[in-house]
Amino acid sequence: MGGTGERGEVAASERWFRSLLSNISDTVSITDGDGKLLFSSGTDNNLLGYPDDFWLGRQPISLVHPDDMDRAVGGWERALANPGMEVYEEVRMREANGTWQDIAITGVNLIDDPEVGGIVVTSRNITDLRRAQRLSTSQASVLELIARGESLTTVGEACVQLLVDNGFSGNSAIYLLEEDRLEIRAGSAPAALVEWMREAERSIDRSLCDRAILTEDAVIVSDVRAATLAEGLGYIAANEDIKAAWSQPILSIASGRPVGSLSTLYDEIHVPSEHERHTADVACSLVAIALERADTEAQLAHQALHDGLTGLPNRTLLLDRLDHALARRERTGTDIALLFCDIDRFKVVNDSMGHNVGDQLLVAFAQRFRSVVAPSDTVARFGGDEFVVLIEDVTTDDHPVRVAEELAEALAHPFLLPAGNEVFLTVSIGLALATDHRSGDGWLRDADAAMYRAKEAGRNRLAAFDTDMRDAAMIRLQIESDLRRAVERDELVVHYQPVIDLVTGRISGAEALVRWQHPERGLLPPGDFIEVAEDTGTINGIGRHVLETAVREISRLVDHTRDRPFQLGVNVSARQLSSGDLDELVRSVLAGSGWPGPSLLLELTESALLHGLDEPIGVMRRLHDLGVSLAIDDFGTGYSSLARLGHLPVDQVKIDQSFVGAIGRPDDRLGRIVDAVIAIAVALDHRTTAEGVETDAQLDYLRRMRCDYAQGFLFSKPLPFDEFAALLESDPRW
Ligand code: C2E
Ligand code: MG
Ligand code: MG
Repeated sequence: MGGTGERGEVAASERWFRSLLSNISDTVSITDGDGKLLFSSGTDNNLLGYPDDFWLGRQPISLVHPDDMDRAVGGWERALANPGMEVYEEVRMREANGTWQDIAITGVNLIDDPEVGGIVVTSRNITDLRRAQRLSTSQASVLELIARGESLTTVGEACVQLLVDNGFSGNSAIYLLEEDRLEIRAGSAPAALVEWMREAERSIDRSLCDRAILTEDAVIVSDVRAATLAEGLGYIAANEDIKAAWSQPILSIASGRPVGSLSTLYDEIHVPSEHERHTADVACSLVAIALERADTEAQLAHQALHDGLTGLPNRTLLLDRLDHALARRERTGTDIALLFCDIDRFKVVNDSMGHNVGDQLLVAFAQRFRSVVAPSDTVARFGGDEFVVLIEDVTTDDHPVRVAEELAEALAHPFLLPAGNEVFLTVSIGLALATDHRSGDGWLRDADAAMYRAKEAGRNRLAAFDTDMRDAAMIRLQIESDLRRAVERDELVVHYQPVIDLVTGRISGAEALVRWQHPERGLLPPGDFIEVAEDTGTINGIGRHVLETAVREISRLVDHTRDRPFQLGVNVSARQLSSGDLDELVRSVLAGSGWPGPSLLLELTESALLHGLDEPIGVMRRLHDLGVSLAIDDFGTGYSSLARLGHLPVDQVKIDQSFVGAIGRPDDRLGRIVDAVIAIAVALDHRTTAEGVETDAQLDYLRRMRCDYAQGFLFSKPLPFDEFAALLESDPRW
C-alpha cells in the first residue's frame, strides 16, 4: 500500500509541477552538458511552433540566428564553467514558419546537483516587447528630425527607413497630394521601380493610392493575381515583380482629410501582420505631423513676407525680389524698372477720417493696383501709403510709363466710403530703371527720390529718376532727421511781415512766418522744410510752437484792449487742421494771452480745404465759434468752387502773389483775374489781402480796386522780432 501510495504521491506532484510550468509564460527546460534537451515545459505549448517530437534530444542552440551564434555559444560556455551561476543572453531564434523571434534566455548549470543533473534553461519570447521598443526608438528619431525642422523629403525618407528597420519586407513609398496630384516624396524601392510606381500612380485613374485616398481606408491586395482585374488594379499585375500591394491613406491632423498615402509593393504574396499595420500607422502619423509642421512654417513664412493688411508682399520680400531681379538682369541683360508710388495727402485722409477708413482705403487701393499690374510683376506695400511696382521685363522704352498711366487710370473713379461718402485718391510716382545698381536698396532710394520730385512738381504725376535727385534725396533725409530735434533745440524762429491797411496806409497787423536757424545750413525758409514736416507729422509741434511764440512776442508790442486793432496772421497746415484738436490749442493760447478772438487770423491754404473732408470744416466751425478770424491763403491757386467757398466760415481771402505780380505786365490777363478775385471776395462778403506787393503801381491799382489790406516787399520783408518792433514803433504810412 505504502509503495503504491508513494508512487501515487510522486505522480501527483509531477502533474502539479507540470501544470504549474505550463501555466507560466516562461519556458523551463533542462539540457545535458551537450545542450541536448532532456525536458521542457514548453513542448506542451508548441514552443516556437515546432511539434513535440522535434525537440527531444535536439540542441536548441542550432536554431539561433547565425549573427547571434557567437554570443549564444559564449553564454553556454560561461554557464558550463561556472556551476550554479546564472547566465543571461538575448538571441534571435528561428520559428517553425521561418521568422525570427527575440528570445531572452537564462541558464544555470546544475549538472552536479543530484536532484537535477542538468542545465536549467529558462527562456521567454520577448519579440513583441523588442519590436515595440525598436518602433518607439525609430519613432523618436523621426520626431527629432521633425522637431529640427528637416524638409518633408528628409522626414519622408526617414519614415520609409523606419518601415525597413521595423521589418517591412516590401518596397514602400510615400505619396503626397500636391495640387490634386499625387507626388512621390520618398521610397525604399530601387530607382527603376520607384519610377514605375510614379508613372503608374500618375497614369492610372483609379490607382491603388487613389483608392486609399478616396475611401480614406487601407486597400490591401494580398494576392495581386487573385484580385487585380476585379478591383481594377490590372496595371499592378502587369508588373511581374509585384505579387501583393497595400496602400494606406495619410490623414491630415488638422482636417482629418487624406493628404497622401503610404504604399508598399511585395514580390511575394503577403498579408500584413498586426505589427506591420501598426508600424504603417505610426509612419503615416509621423508624415502627418511633419506636414502639419511644414504648414505652420509656411504660414509663418508667408506672414513674415507679406503685409497683414493688404496681403501684398512686404518690404522684406520686395527687397529679396529686387535683388533677384538685379541678378537676373546681370545674366540676361533684360531691362527692369521700379515705380515708387505714394498716395497723395493720404495722411490727411487718414487723420481726418479715422484709421479704420484709412485701412479700408489702403486695401481697396492695393486691389486696384494689383488688378492692373501684370501677374509676373510685383506689387508690394513698402510702408504706410507707399507701394512699389517691380516691372520685370521692360519691353519698350515707354512700357513703365504705360504701367504708371494704367495705375493712375485705376484711380480715376472714386473710392466709396462707409456712409455713402466718396473720396478720390491720386498718386505721385517715381520711376527708376535699374542701371548701375548692385542692391535693391539703392535702386529703391532712386525711385523714392523721383517720387519726391513728382510731389514737388504738384503731385498726381510721374517723375523719372535722374542722378541730381540722389543729392536732393540725401538732403531731404538729413532734414527729416534734423527737423525732429529742431523744436526741442529751439532752432525755429518767427519773423513778422507787416500787413498794411489800404485805407489808412498804416500797419494793421502782421503775418508770422517761420524760419529754421539750422546749425550748419543757416537760416532756412519754410519752403525748405514745411512739406517734410507735414509728411513726417512734425508740423503739429512746429505749428504749436509758432502760434505760441508769435502770440507771446506780439503781446509785448500790442495791448489789444487799448491800441488800435491789430491782427496777427498765423499759417496752419492741412495736417494740423485734420488732427482735430487745433481748436483746443487755439482756445488755450487765446485764454492765456487775453486776446480777443478776431485779433488772431488763421491762414489755411486753399488746397488744405479742397479734399471734401468733413473734419477740417468741423474744426473751422469750432474756431469760428471762438471768434477767431479765418483766411483762405494763396487764394486763386486751389481750384475751389465758388459754391464751396460760399459755405466755408471764412472772413478773409489772401490773393496769391502770382496774381498781384501780374498787375501792370503787358499781358494783363492775370491782372484781370485779380479784379475777378476781388469781386468774388466782395460778393462773398470777405475782406481781401493782396500778397506780394512789390511796386507802387500795384499798390495804386489795388487801392483803386478797393482791396482792404496789402503785404509785400514794397512795405517790408518779413523781419526778425526786434526789427519788426522798431518798425511798428515808427508807425510808417504808405
Ligand atoms: P504764405 O503764407 O503765402 O506767406 C507769404 C510768403 O510770401 C512768405 O514766404 C513771404 O516771405 C513771401 N512774400 C511776402 N512778400 C513778398 C513779396 O513782395 N514778394 C515775394 N516774392 N514774396 C513775398 P515764406 O516766408 O518763404 O513762406 C512761404 C510759405 O510757407 C508761406 O506762404 C506759408 O504757406 C508757409 N509757412 C510759413 N510759415 C509757416 C508756419 O508757421 N506754418 C505753416 N504751416 N506754414 C508756414
Ligand atoms: Mg500765409
Ligand atoms: Mg500766401
